[in-house]
Amino acid sequence: MVYFPKKITDIDQKVIILGESAQYDLCGACANQIERKRNPQGGWIYPTVTPDGERVNLLKILLSNDCIHNCYYCGNREGRKGDRVRFSPEELVRIFLNMKDRGLVKGLFLSSAVDRNPFQTMDDMIKVTELLRWKYHFRGYIHLKIFPESTDDYIETAIRLATRVSINIEAPGSDYLKSIAPQKNFNRIWNRFLYLKKLSQKGIRPRAGFTTQLVIGGGEEKDLDIMRTVSTLYHDFSMTRAYYSAFHPIIETPLAEKQPESTWREHRLYQADYLFRKYHFSLDELIFNQNGNLPLEIDPKTLWALNHPEVFPLEINTASYQELLRIPGIGPISAKRIIQFRQKAPFRDLSSLQNLGIRAQATAPYILLSGKQFRIPQQLSLFSEYIAG
Ligand code: SF4
Repeated sequence: MVYFPKKITDIDQKVIILGESAQYDLCGACANQIERKRNPQGGWIYPTVTPDGERVNLLKILLSNDCIHNCYYCGNREGRKGDRVRFSPEELVRIFLNMKDRGLVKGLFLSSAVDRNPFQTMDDMIKVTELLRWKYHFRGYIHLKIFPESTDDYIETAIRLATRVSINIEAPGSDYLKSIAPQKNFNRIWNRFLYLKKLSQKGIRPRAGFTTQLVIGGGEEKDLDIMRTVSTLYHDFSMTRAYYSAFHPIIETPLAEKQPESTWREHRLYQADYLFRKYHFSLDELIFNQNGNLPLEIDPKTLWALNHPEVFPLEINTASYQELLRIPGIGPISAKRIIQFRQKAPFRDLSSLQNLGIRAQATAPYILLSGKQFRIPQQLSLFSEYIAG
C-alpha cells in the first residue's frame, strides 16, 4: 500500500517533526543522549564543543525528512508512515536566527534526508549556510552534512562555509552497507573521503575538521572491521571524529523485529576510539574476542594493560607522559596534573593521587609510588579468558 503523507505547512509543527527526525543522525551530537534536551519550540538542542573549546548548544535539525532512499534502519526511509515535511532555506534560517537571538542556541547542525534528489537537497542546505554567513553575517558554529552523491564543487563550497562537515559511512565495508542500506554505495562514500583528503593536503579543510557516523549492530559487522575502517580514516585521512550509534529497531522498517544492539557495545567502541584519538593506540594494540568484537565486560585500555605485564608497574614519579597514558585510570588531563605536581614533591602514597581525582582502585596494580607498590584486591579472574599466555 502506498502511503500519501499529509502536507504540513505550520512552521512550529515542522520544527517539532524535523527536530525529532534528526535523532537518526548522531554525527556531531553529544554521544550522551541524556544531555540532549528539547527547547520550548520543540526542536532539538545538543551541546557540543567548538574548535576554540567553547561549550555551546546547537540546534540540530533536518532540512527535510522526506527521503527517496530506503535504509532499513532509518525512520525517515521512503514509504514509512509519518509526517513528511521540509523547510525552505529561508524558513530554516529564520527559525535558527530566532532561537539564536533568544539565547537558546549558538550554532547549527544541519542535516537532511535525501529529498527529491541529492543535488537539489545539497543546493538547499548550502543555501541555508550561504544566507547565514553572507546575508546575516553569522560567524558561529555550523556543522553541515555532505551527501555521498555530492560533487567536488559541493564539497568545496560546504568546507568553505561550514565549521565542520560530515559524511556518514554507516558501515565498515561494501557488503555490510548493502545489508542495511541497499541504495548506498560504499565506494562512492569512500571516494568522497578521498576528495576530502585531497583538499586537506592543499590546506582546504573545515576549521573543525570532518566526522562520520556508523550504525552498530544493524548488520553483521564486527568491531574489528569498524575499528580498522575508523583507524584508516583517522590516520590516512585525518578525520576528526567518528560517532557510533547502537542500532535500535524502529516500527515499520525492515529491521523492526531485530533485537536492539547493546549500548555497552557502543560504549566500548567509543572507548576504543578514544584510545586512537587521545592515547595514541594503534589498531593492532586493541584486543578483540574470538568473534572479532571488543569484550563488553572490560574496557579496552585495562585489557591492554592486563596483557602487557612487561610494561608495569610504572614509577609515577618518573614515567613519561606517554607512559602515564598507558596506565588504567589515568587520562590526558590526570597525566598532565601528575607531571605538574611531581615537580613540587614526589608522590609517596595513593591518597596524593586520589587528591588529583585519580581512581586508586583502577591505577594501583600498575604503578609504583617512590618505589613502593600498593595492593588493592582486583577481580582479575573475571577477565582471565582475555589475557594472553
Ligand atoms: S538516506 Fe537513508 S539514513 Fe539518510 S534519511 Fe534517507 S533513509 Fe534515512
